[in-house]
Amino acid sequence: NVSVVLFTADLRLHDHPPLRAALDGSRHVVPLFVRDRGVTDTGFAVPNRMAFLVDCLGDLDAGLRARGGRLVVRYGDVVDEVCKVAAEADADEVHMSSDVSAYAHRREQRLRTALEADGRRLHVHDTVTTAVAPGALTPSGADHFSVFTPYFRRWSQEKLRRPLDAPRSVGVPDTVGSEPLPSRRALTDVSPGLARGGETDGRTQLTAWLNRRVGAYEDRQDDLAGDTTSRLSPHLHFGTLSPVEIVHRARRVGGPGADAFVRQLAWRDFHRQVLAARPDAATADYRGRDDRWRREPEARRDIEAWREGRTGYPVVDAAMRQLRHEGWMHNRGRLLTASFLAKTLYVDWRVGADHFLSLLVDGDLANNQLNWQWVAGTGTDTRPHRVLNPVLQARRYDPDGAYVRRWVPELAGVEGPAVHEPWKLRGPERAALDYPEPLIDLREGLDRFKRARDRG
Ligand code: FAD
Repeated sequence: NVSVVLFTADLRLHDHPPLRAALDGSRHVVPLFVRDRGVTDTGFAVPNRMAFLVDCLGDLDAGLRARGGRLVVRYGDVVDEVCKVAAEADADEVHMSSDVSAYAHRREQRLRTALEADGRRLHVHDTVTTAVAPGALTPSGADHFSVFTPYFRRWSQEKLRRPLDAPRSVGVPDTVGSEPLPSRRALTDVSPGLARGGETDGRTQLTAWLNRRVGAYEDRQDDLAGDTTSRLSPHLHFGTLSPVEIVHRARRVGGPGADAFVRQLAWRDFHRQVLAARPDAATADYRGRDDRWRREPEARRDIEAWREGRTGYPVVDAAMRQLRHEGWMHNRGRLLTASFLAKTLYVDWRVGADHFLSLLVDGDLANNQLNWQWVAGTGTDTRPHRVLNPVLQARRYDPDGAYVRRWVPELAGVEGPAVHEPWKLRGPERAALDYPEPLIDLREGLDRFKRARDRG
């Protein structure tokens, strides 16, 4: 008998419960990836994530070939393609991992109905893309946790399943045809500094991180210039690494650095359990507030300056330019640029979230939208009125100014922390810089935000 394994956001061979279940129950499996028209023809399929995806598929195919198999790639409606492949292979079962977005819920339901109509069964596996399944932990009287600290307490006590080894061999029936693997050549507008995708690179990166760098994470995770975070987020987004395996391995390393790193991974699960219970939170205010945010066309000048990294606040501009160049931004940068847009400029958080999703290689509906809501004060932050001051943030997290000088070449000649406040430079020095004046007075921004808050 034959099973189909539908790969989605779990593009790996190690610790892959759907693949293991399929191999245990069948002689042959069809490892399938559908370039789903419902995703690829929408705004969500942006060049940076498509490029990373191409790498992931190439690496997955290579891994399967090394085990005697291959990856089958199809293009079209995911439900139609899975049904066709299942029919061509005469498969009894389809295995896949669970996911949290409204789109993923609909996909699962449609797939189940269509397969059952053909007499086949769909098996959906949890803890493939999270360490703890969404919905596995609930506070009394609610279907999800809306505050991180109690969630984390419970999350930490959960006994995780043991990670699975990659299979030794995978037999794929010849009857099923595949389209050619997509290539990076067809893609334009990919960020020049984009990371490479694929399980092989992800595993190398994880091992190097745990062996050499995680120890310093607790002290240095906010050091903008030091670049001392794991940069594993794209691998977690595409599932080239398993959260269960990462948590096991990090706990084995132990110590304050590894503990702090595991806590961040719990944030990822936290946001997923929020989105699973409240899929509307991808677009609607989680707290149901009715903020009168500024948008285009009223705020066009501010929005464009923010997107281009020309706000006149160097640390904000540095982070926005890092995003454009690498398709990735440091977490501290994400916090302070988001706070600047939503609170200082009082622009709708969805405008910012969309821009992030258009560039981030790790751009992820749960993490992006719910972090934006957190920062905007519409989400799960228990202190929704805090406003990050970009100058104080810069002095604290980029004390010498090295991060700003790296990303804002117009300011590369300004030494030390003076780079954070170019408006304070003496006349001729300031005049020589091709760098904008601050877009807004911080005090004015704060007053507007307070007025809006008091109204709400
Ligand atoms: P590390 O510091 O090494 O952390 C390890 C892992 O923990 C990360 O890879 C990530 O999976 C998880 N993690 C860390 N911080 C968070 C967090 N605050 N929330 C959820 N998970 C976290 N992360 C995304 O993966 N995709 C997004 O689209 C995304 N958008 C964001 C938007 C805003 C406005 C903010 C403030 C944060 C966003 N984050 C997002 C969370 C976080 O900034 C990134 O996960 C992190 O910067 C990735 O870098 P890293 O892998 O080096 O992180």
